[in-house]
Amino acid sequence: MSENKQKKIIKTIRVDVDKCNGCRACEVICSAFHAEPKYGSNNPARSRIRVIREPLTDIYVPVYAGEYTPAECAGRDQYTIDGKEYDECAFCRASCPSRPEFKEPDSGLPLKCDMCEGEDEPLCVKWCLADALIYEEREEDVDEQEELEELEVGLESLVNRYGMD
Ligand code: SF4
Ligand code: SF4
Repeated sequence: MSENKQKKIIKTIRVDVDKCNGCRACEVICSAFHAEPKYGSNNPARSRIRVIREPLTDIYVPVYAGEYTPAECAGRDQYTIDGKEYDECAFCRASCPSRPEFKEPDSGLPLKCDMCEGEDEPLCVKWCLADALIYEEREEDVDEQEELEELEVGLESLVNRYGMD
């Protein structure tokens, strides 16, 4: 085990799918918070959370943007819920080359939930009046190396898109 351990606050948002009513307020506030200028526009395509909606069967599943991945994965998931078959990768959190989800519409850069950096609480949680999103924090020991690798993945996505310049 590495000796370079650090305390880190792990932030999570628990999703209670049964409470989600598909209102998409979370997408609205997330895209507005990340707009340039901040709150200057609202385009759910820029949101780091997207809600998969099946109003006829009352199924709503919020999915958060996770890590960027430069290559498609070889294995795929396929879900059937209440008889409805969902597309492969429908619930995946990754920004990946095989699909358009979680990409900034103008630049194509990957989007990732940043827990509304600088805010006391994630704004999607505040705006979810149905209490389908629950914010939680816990402390964990993490490897310094893991933190560095996470930073490198972010830089790599920029380099892949724009080159070394
Ligand atoms: S704001 Fe809450 S209820 Fe509305 S879509 Fe998002 S998670 Fe669902
Ligand atoms: S926590 Fe903030 S950045 Fe993440 S999805 Fe919610 S509103 Fe967007």
